[in-house]
Amino acid sequence: MLTLSEFLTQIPKAELHYHLLGGVRMSTMLDLAKKYGVPLTEKEAKSYYRAYAHENEVMKGGIAALHFLYPLLREAVDYQRVAHEVLEDAKNTGIRYVEFFWNPNDTNLSYQAVTDALAKTFEQAEQEWNISAFLIPSINREKTPEEAVKMVQWMIDYPHERVLGIGIDYREDHAPIENFWKAYRLAEQHGLRLTGHCSEFGLHWRNVETGLDLLNLERIDHGYTVIENPELTARCARLGIPFTVVPSNTFFMKKWPNHQDWQKNHPIRQMAKAGMKIIPATDDWHMHDTNGVKCYEVMIEDFGFDLDGVRQCILNGIDAAWQPESLKQEWRYHWMKEFDDLRAQLVEEPKIAPELYTQYGPKTF
Ligand SMILES: [Zn+2]
Repeated sequence: MLTLSEFLTQIPKAELHYHLLGGVRMSTMLDLAKKYGVPLTEKEAKSYYRAYAHENEVMKGGIAALHFLYPLLREAVDYQRVAHEVLEDAKNTGIRYVEFFWNPNDTNLSYQAVTDALAKTFEQAEQEWNISAFLIPSINREKTPEEAVKMVQWMIDYPHERVLGIGIDYREDHAPIENFWKAYRLAEQHGLRLTGHCSEFGLHWRNVETGLDLLNLERIDHGYTVIENPELTARCARLGIPFTVVPSNTFFMKKWPNHQDWQKNHPIRQMAKAGMKIIPATDDWHMHDTNGVKCYEVMIEDFGFDLDGVRQCILNGIDAAWQPESLKQEWRYHWMKEFDDLRAQLVEEPKIAPELYTQYGPKTF
């Protein structure tokens, strides 16, 4: 018999929104600082990790961690160490497939060197642990749109089977997605897949709309304020636009520290209620103190999902993965069989909210 936590650990899952360096273990951060003689006390290192956050201390958070880590990874082997550990952590929580964001404009190493190094580690992990991993080079929107075009050009000049498409991340406030239209247009013209962080940090739903209508994004990362526009919400639900949503999102954790408020207010719950195609994601695994299991525990405990809802989210992840339909069809069959077999071994199904996401597939509007 299985407890709910064992069940959530074992069910096969796809992770579509994971910043590679957000999964750096703290011990690795400290080791790399030592390797390159960069001053970093344990106290400072802890300030990047939510697990060590104390009430009166300011936590630096995921974006600050990326700013610190990119200059710290100075050799291809550093990326390989990180990727190996990240995949080890992921497979231990039942993740079978990951698409990783990383930011080629933030490293002094060449695009080709990092891509080759990561791909090599991915090959090994696939053989060793049965987990497959791919890359989504991501625009650092705190840099210029011209740098973004440069990144896409690197991708065009060095196509790689482990590289699927482009994303955009970092602080959105002063860098709306339309500023980067040229990079997106170029990527699209060369057959790269397109996703983007839109309407994070409470920013206007317009950014989701712009991402979809101007830049032709196929997926949206975050996108929470979409629920403030019922027409746009209904359209996204009707078309089944995949949204990768992050239960450990810092903005809402700060806004509603009491999780009881989440049941009423949290946009992830409202997005689900509207029948949108959502895929729970970890974003910055260690920095956010989350993992492939905790992410789904929040879906159940705080957002009221039952196991039909969890099953649907996993299917949504398969649908939204940037892989050939024939492979995804195999996953649907085998992963759901595993899911159902494991479910039959559960001690007890979680008793939870009712109306939310029990329907199979998005509601029809
Ligand atoms: Zn993210």
